[in-house]
Formats: sequence, C-alpha cells, structure tokens
Amino acid sequence: MDKKIKKIGVLTSGGDAPGMNAAIRAVVRTGIYYGLEVYGILRGYAGMIENDIIKMESRSVANIIQRGGTILKTGRCDEFFDYEGRKKAYNNLKKPGIDGLVIIGGDGSFRGAQIFSNEFDIPCIGLPGTIDKDIAGTDFTIGFDTAVNTAVEAIDKIRDTAEAHDRLFIIEVMGRDAGYIALHSGIATGAENILIPERKTVIEDVITAIAEKERRQKMVNLIVVAEGEEFGGAYEVAKVIKERLPEQEVRVCVLGHIQRGGSPSCFDRLIASRMGYAAVECLVEGKHNVFVGILNNRMHYIPLNEAVKKKQRLSEEWMRIVKILSA
Ligand code: ADP
Repeated sequence: MDKKIKKIGVLTSGGDAPGMNAAIRAVVRTGIYYGLEVYGILRGYAGMIENDIIKMESRSVANIIQRGGTILKTGRCDEFFDYEGRKKAYNNLKKPGIDGLVIIGGDGSFRGAQIFSNEFDIPCIGLPGTIDKDIAGTDFTIGFDTAVNTAVEAIDKIRDTAEAHDRLFIIEVMGRDAGYIALHSGIATGAENILIPERKTVIEDVITAIAEKERRQKMVNLIVVAEGEEFGGAYEVAKVIKERLPEQEVRVCVLGHIQRGGSPSCFDRLIASRMGYAAVECLVEGKHNVFVGILNNRMHYIPLNEAVKKKQRLSEEWMRIVKILSA
C-alpha cells in the first residue's frame, strides 16, 4: 500500500504560461486544506538541484490568481537530463522530507517527471501548463486561452491599420511546432489564410488567394502564420509574396512574447484552479505519476509515460471554415 503523503513540493518548469500562478495557489491551498506541508521549488528542476526550496503558507499565494508569469519562476535545466543531477535533486527533496511533487509545465517537464518518479520513490503529478496546447489527453492547457486572446486582441488592432492602408498583413503567432494559436486566433479574427505546421503550405495557393481577393477589391487581407510553419515563417512567406505580387503592399508583424505574459483569462484561472486542486487530491488518494487533464469538461488522469506532444489531426473542416468565412 502507498504510504501517506505528508509533504509536497510544487514547481513550474519549461516555458511560462499565464495561469501558472493560479495553479500554484490551488496546489498550496488544497495541500494545506488536507493538512499537508507545501514547499515551493524555484526555477523548475534547477531549484531542486540547487536546493532552492521554500515553505509555502496560505498567505504566500495571496493576490496571485490574477498575475501572469509564475511566482516560483521557471526554467530549463540541463543537469536534470543526467542521473547525477536527478539524484542531487532527490537528496534535496529528502532534506525537508518532501514525498510528493506537482510539476506544472509542458511535455518536456512531464518527461523529466516520469523519469524521476521511475528512479526515486517520489510520486509526481503533472499539470499541463503551456500556451501551445500541444499535449495529448486534455482539451485544454493552462495558458492557451489567455495567449490566444492576446493574439486576437493584437490582430484586431492590426486589422484596423490594414484596412486604413489597404495592406496585406502577415502576422506570426507562437505555438512552437503546433498550430493551435494560429488556427484559433486566425478564425476568431477573420483571417484570409492560416498557415500551420500540421498542414503543408502551398505558396501557389496563398498567392492565388491574395490575387483573387485583390481582384474583388477586398480591403483587408490578413494571413496568420504559426511560428513552426514549415515554409519558413512570416518573413519568408512575405518575401515570396512580394516577389510574385510586386504591387501588393505587404507588412509583417511577429507578435512574439506578448503572447506569454499578461493576466490570465477567467477560463485559464478556472482550469488552473480545478487542475491544481485535482493534483493534490491525486497525491492524497494515491493516484500517482499521472498528469491531470480535462476531457469533455471532466477531470482526466493520464499516466505520465503516456504524456505525448499532441500532433493535431487537423480536420479539413477547420480550413473549410476559414475559406468560406473569409470570402
Ligand atoms: P516544456 O516542459 O515546456 O516542454 P522543456 O521541453 O524545455 O519544456 O522541458 C523542461 C525541462 O524538463 C528541461 O529543461 C529538463 O530539465 C526537463 N526535461 C525535459 N525532458 C527531459 C528528459 N528526457 N529527461 C530529464 N529531464 C527532462
């Protein structure tokens, strides 16, 4: 039988995502509710290796639910890839007697957690914290909704200036090798075309569509490009369009890191709160080495060793919607 967990650690790892603070708050307060001692580990796995571990109280997480970033800081940690680094981390956790971990991060962080929990007797629970929404087994990840709303707000502003000048704008959004932010923000802003890694970019089709819109004197022309799009990103697409359609005024805007920051949306605060609470329940109930997802609005627990990067099976319907609605 699993021994009863008394002390838990919480950390944020990998890329930051809005809503991570709401998740930390939920973990700390649910842990305290269950009579556990809760420790915050700073800068992801690096804090475990460097013994940067602090005791958290209910008040430590006051006034953070609305804040972007992460009060625990996050980071990538090369030492954690090596057994020696992980052993050091384990020894540091044992000093205060931490016997359960909640890791808020992306699929890379989950891989680290899975290896760690296999090697040492520390159960790990993952919470999907990534703006990219690229983890299989959950409909949502903490941060995606905020990031996509930030992108939408920015693209709406660009639309105003595009309209004023009759310009074609090519807007690059984040998402690493996933196209979710591009797809969602593109549809929500009425983009004429959306270029994503999951679908081969046929530049001839893009050019034909622009020429056609030009012929019909469409005033605004926005193309949303995912950063991982394989043709080469917004600048490359713009270069080819300028070569082929020299009359066309083309501008590029790379939204970049504004998509990571900012106050989390209501939706992200809610899922972070639900997931943080569920993570502690998992540890208390002995449901170990899983990550917490939400599927069809219900909590869902997926073994950490099944945490895989989600390759979107893009339904052609999405692209059909883009085409029909941008007429
Ligand atoms: P994300 O969690 O956002 O996907 P990364 O892929 O950069 O971010 O992973 C974050 C950290 O997780 C890495 O810097 C490393 O410390 C740890 N990690 C990732 N993959 C592994 C692995 N295979 N073995 C051990 N640790 C890993």
